[in-house]
Amino acid sequence: MPVIVDYDICDSVEGCPAVMICDAGALYYDNSSGRVQYDRDRCRDCGTCANYCAPAAVMHAATEEEWQELKQMLRG
Ligand code: SF4
Repeated sequence: MPVIVDYDICDSVEGCPAVMICDAGALYYDNSSGRVQYDRDRCRDCGTCANYCAPAAVMHAATEEEWQELKQMLRG
């Protein structure tokens, strides 16, 4: 399952540890938007990034059920 970023709490700092730890380049800082972005096609589904996000904005779903729950939670 992929990663979900909660932009309500993401601080999108340059040098974000979650971005730095992703050696697949699936999480990256986008200068034009000023935000951390996620490229699902590059993601290897390792889940490492979620452990490096201090505000816990980056979440990794381990199952389809968890993915659906996270999506619902972010929709409010
Ligand atoms: S799950 Fe792994 S590959 Fe995917 S964005 Fe996170 S660190 Fe990168």
